[in-house]
Amino acid sequence: MVESAITTTNQDDPLTRYSPSLFHETSPKSLQTQSTTPTLSISEPDGSPRYCDLCRCFKPDRTHHCGVCNVCVLKMDHHCPWINNCVGHHNYKLFFLFVAYTALYGLWCLGSGIPLVVIALRDMDADIDPHWIVFLALAFVIGLTVTCFGLNHLRYILVNRTTIEHVLRQKEHVRVDFDSSGVNYQVVEVDHPERLWDLGKMKNWKIIMGDSAIKWFLPIRHVVGNGTTFPYCNSLYQQIIAQTKRPDATL
Ligand SMILES: [Zn+2]
Ligand SMILES: [Zn+2]
Repeated sequence: MVESAITTTNQDDPLTRYSPSLFHETSPKSLQTQSTTPTLSISEPDGSPRYCDLCRCFKPDRTHHCGVCNVCVLKMDHHCPWINNCVGHHNYKLFFLFVAYTALYGLWCLGSGIPLVVIALRDMDADIDPHWIVFLALAFVIGLTVTCFGLNHLRYILVNRTTIEHVLRQKEHVRVDFDSSGVNYQVVEVDHPERLWDLGKMKNWKIIMGDSAIKWFLPIRHVVGNGTTFPYCNSLYQQIIAQTKRPDATL
């Protein structure tokens, strides 16, 4: 649904000249480009870019303000109390590997510990050592809960979605800039806009984990892009453009 159509406005107003998809990191102005391909960005209902009043900065798509760190975080996933830091664009792979290896370790302890305890009790007629109980209880908690947590994040990686985007899953206003002027745009209401970043399972996986299979398992930092813009899912991109009422929109 087209919410509004704005074709003329005060070009000196940085808000209206700002095109979030093309924005410069230190300036609210649009980057100049010769491209006439429409660009998209999540915006406020009136088309103005998302703005953080606390950090006093424009928020690129997928950026959120963390109340604990008191800073805006690019492609914020969540604030993790275990590492006392935010998980986002720059450290998501490292966080996922941390969770995955912790889960594997817990499962390994559980899988190898239970048979040993059973054999000791059955064949050696040993007394129950409280240390075994604690060991198995911890292995059970870490092995199962962290595994569930890790599988959840594996699912998010495969659909290129953050925890925040999964929890919110609401309608968003997507601003369609038809050029880089910052004044020629329309705002479209989109269901589940997080689908905009879903490029297919393999591409989504490589974006986070890297191109090489060896790197997938190693804590080698891998980041695609600067966290302010992301490639679009082409089919949803075409759908959104088709929702606009620009008669001469060409793709
Ligand atoms: Zn902020
Ligand atoms: Zn945080």
